Amino acid sequence: MSFQNPVFIPGPTNIPEAIRKEVSMPTIDHRSALFGDILHPARDGVRKILKSREAEVFIFPSTGTGGWETAITNTLSPGDKVLVGRNGMFSHRWIDMCQRHGLEVQVIDAPWGAGLPSEGYAEALAADTGHAIKAVLATHNETATGVRSDIAAIRRALDAAGHPALLLVDGVSSIASMDFRMDEWGVDIAVAGSQKGFMLPAGLAITGFSPKAMAAVETAKLPRTFFDIRDMARSYGSGGYPYTPAVGLMAGLKLACDMLLEEGLETVFARHYRIAEGVRSATRAWGLELCAQSPDLYSDTVSAIRTPAGFDATRIVTHAADKYGVAFGVGLGEVAGKVFRIGHLGSMTDVMALSGIATAEMVMADLGLDVTLGSGVAAAQDYYRSHDLSESKAAA
Ligand SMILES: *Cc1c(COP(=O)(O)O)cnc(C)c1O
Repeated sequence: MSFQNPVFIPGPTNIPEAIRKEVSMPTIDHRSALFGDILHPARDGVRKILKSREAEVFIFPSTGTGGWETAITNTLSPGDKVLVGRNGMFSHRWIDMCQRHGLEVQVIDAPWGAGLPSEGYAEALAADTGHAIKAVLATHNETATGVRSDIAAIRRALDAAGHPALLLVDGVSSIASMDFRMDEWGVDIAVAGSQKGFMLPAGLAITGFSPKAMAAVETAKLPRTFFDIRDMARSYGSGGYPYTPAVGLMAGLKLACDMLLEEGLETVFARHYRIAEGVRSATRAWGLELCAQSPDLYSDTVSAIRTPAGFDATRIVTHAADKYGVAFGVGLGEVAGKVFRIGHLGSMTDVMALSGIATAEMVMADLGLDVTLGSGVAAAQDYYRSHDLSESKAAA
């Protein structure tokens, strides 16, 4: 594996040099005012990236999975009912966590490659006239299949039923890369992690709580200690943490937010759309199909590409690593061996994407797939040459 090559896994993502340096800062006293100067701007930056005015941002030394646990344990009680859609491995894992916490989970299954079915949510919510459902869970971007779901439509389903349940959204592989509108979509808890759109090493769970979610914390009875946001909120009041914060990562998060906001969120989203369109053009040129069933579902952060029947897609990932020192993502769960994934999020450019596309081509040709060298690269080049960022902005 060459450390010079960019990675094309959908997290952890490539780390910009400036962030890498920032994270490796000298030790400071995290109980001194120095830490507050990192903490508060980092929380403000995250709030802006969530497109929220009111959210309380809580950041834990953890990962996205810890963010899920933060969301459910702070707002729910044992035996509470939750309504969750499943269309891939990550939504499946969140369901598993809810079950292990003793929640009653109503699952709406959708095919892997489809979006979360807002009609299914609407029906279940309309049928729940007694309001037994306390929270509705949705994964914005299913990283296993490269599918973006319509969170606004799930909010409309809640509103149409006049249902008071909380809306908890996994945005781990979308937030900071794809448009996410916490306030406009009425999201009560947004969950992210540091190692995807935020371009940092793994190590932070990043969450935003709406005022309604903050109110639910007072009555929620699921056991929680490390992830109790009441301790976190109290400590933030005095500029600190209830325990030792991951100071270097927090400094990196502050810088990452500055960088993203300086580039401009809409430009960041347009860049991801444009890069993704190049990858999708290449996929078509190879004669292959995306796992995502239709263009409205295409994720701008990860493409899961189906390989021909009978071919083990995992071989692509193994061979790319062994021969060329390049990392792609394997298929997970139901689509293991059927897809390989190209992650194109975070610190990524069109030029970097071209190297990934070229590598995938070499690998597929090496393994005997019917792919013409240069075909995908040419398709992506055509796309990049003929489309600029401002056009992508309108489309993204
Ligand atoms: C990566 C990911 C997670 C899990 O995050 P970890 O940081 O690995 O705990 C959860 N949901 C989605 C959609 C993801 O992409």
